[in-house]
Amino acid sequence: MMLTWKEIMTFSLKGNPKPDTRIEKSKAEWKAQLTPEQYRITRQKGTESAHSGALCSIYDAGKYACICCDTPLFDSTIKFSSGTGWPSFTQPIKENAIQYKRDSTFGMVRVEVMCNTCDAHLGHVFPDGPEPSGLRYCINSESMKLNKEDK
Ligand SMILES: [Zn+2]
Repeated sequence: MMLTWKEIMTFSLKGNPKPDTRIEKSKAEWKAQLTPEQYRITRQKGTESAHSGALCSIYDAGKYACICCDTPLFDSTIKFSSGTGWPSFTQPIKENAIQYKRDSTFGMVRVEVMCNTCDAHLGHVFPDGPEPSGLRYCINSESMKLNKEDK
């Protein structure tokens, strides 16, 4: 499977694929579990400063999982160096791992990406990534953790 911008547009307009499971918690429960910065980004749609994220320049093998619910989102093999200062990927790990939502804040029309399991805000996806998918998932470090693979 390889997602393209056309499919992402369709998801953001007509509805996302169903996740394998759903995890829903109250604001207080998320606050108790996350650091203030993780909470601000994932539950209040914040953005970390460019080049500040711990996962920006790490290319170890493993799976990037949601910091809130531990669902795998991206594989290290599809991470690439975009030069933007945020971890960047060309594809999700699975078609139904991510949900897409039209975002017209700040006078721009963008596509917000969220964890499909717990609705954590992750970042945005843009149609200017490398071939063959042409996608660039621009994701906050603070919204993920890297579960490293043993060699
Ligand atoms: Zn999640």
